[in-house]
Amino acid sequence: MTSVTARAPGRVNLIGDHTDYNGGLCLPFAIGLGTTTTARARGDNRVRVRSTAFPEVWTGRLDDLTLAGREAMPGWVRYVAGVLWAAREAGWELPGLDLVIDSDLPRGSGLASSAALECSVAVAVGGLIDRPLDPGSRQPLAALCRRAETEYAGAPTGGMDQLVSLLGRPDHALLIDFADSSIRPVPLPLARAGLVVLVTDTGAGHELADGDGGYAQRRRECDEAAAMLGLPRLGLAWPDDLSRLDDDVHRARARHVLAESARVEDVITAVAADDWERVGSILTASHRSLRGDYAASTPALDLAVDTAVEAGAHGARLTGGGFGGSAIALVPEERALAVQNAIDAAFAADGHPAPTHRTVLPCAGAAVLAT
Ligand code: ADP
Ligand code: MG
Repeated sequence: MTSVTARAPGRVNLIGDHTDYNGGLCLPFAIGLGTTTTARARGDNRVRVRSTAFPEVWTGRLDDLTLAGREAMPGWVRYVAGVLWAAREAGWELPGLDLVIDSDLPRGSGLASSAALECSVAVAVGGLIDRPLDPGSRQPLAALCRRAETEYAGAPTGGMDQLVSLLGRPDHALLIDFADSSIRPVPLPLARAGLVVLVTDTGAGHELADGDGGYAQRRRECDEAAAMLGLPRLGLAWPDDLSRLDDDVHRARARHVLAESARVEDVITAVAADDWERVGSILTASHRSLRGDYAASTPALDLAVDTAVEAGAHGARLTGGGFGGSAIALVPEERALAVQNAIDAAFAADGHPAPTHRTVLPCAGAAVLAT
């Protein structure tokens, strides 16, 4: 094969935010928007990377794919080169490559465009050199893509996005337990229930690779709290451990992490019982916790959530980390437009830039499209 095209989806995290790096639970699903990479093998050792999202073409050599080599690359190229680097570290024999990337995902808005990029590159290049891409091989592949993001692109993210981009299924969410990295598809029959998830992008980007941003700061606070409790990760704490944290900030962060994992389990129970109003109220409780205890929300995200609930959503929350990015609302399909219009009106009245809306449903994970 000389050329392979693969597509990997973005995701919405239905519930379970800031639990991944803490060893807790989350429940994301893959969406219909995604990133496509065409990988073509070259006869020499050159690597060329092009994305329709950026004007520059990056040209280098396989030998440049080292940790030191990343310094000379534009930020976005590191997500791509990082996959090639991690693949070679894992023993993949790579030829020279031309990679052409195209995406219909917004970047930096909490829908995991970075993971979709990494996973589409990994599946395209893996397909090109006949690496196994069956379901059993996808967890190690997700780990490889996560390595690219954390060690090469420098974004200390937890691994949820890559797993769901590679393992999503139509009409299912993916329960991920980061205590032991186990995964389980969970039926999420939104369409059958006449529901959609409305994603409202506030337009305020969150740069997760920014080492001083709120995301990195929260990670540090959680690591500190875990160390104070003598635990490797905060998600392993018990509720009665909270009183052993003297500092209010550490206690609040820990309270969110523990309660959020419990909410993931409660949502799964409510979905199984077809109790969508209960699902919605748990989503809204998650937002309150992310806003209060975790201080990860923004006025625009709060406004989107509050307005959605007032306008008839079953529930709403920020998704994908916060500090900007998107909110989701669980809405009866016939109410989606009214909720969207209410959010637009509220944003205009409060002087926020107009948001962008999309409705999404659970879709399939990454696949080879063409060879
Ligand atoms: P999110 O994953 O929530 O969209 P991140 O901050 O994790 O936000 O990742 C966004 C970054 O990923 C962009 O700034 C860019 O560097 C890279 N990226 C995402 N999609 C593309 C693309 N289609 N082409 C090039 N780079 C991309
Ligand atoms: Mg990302």
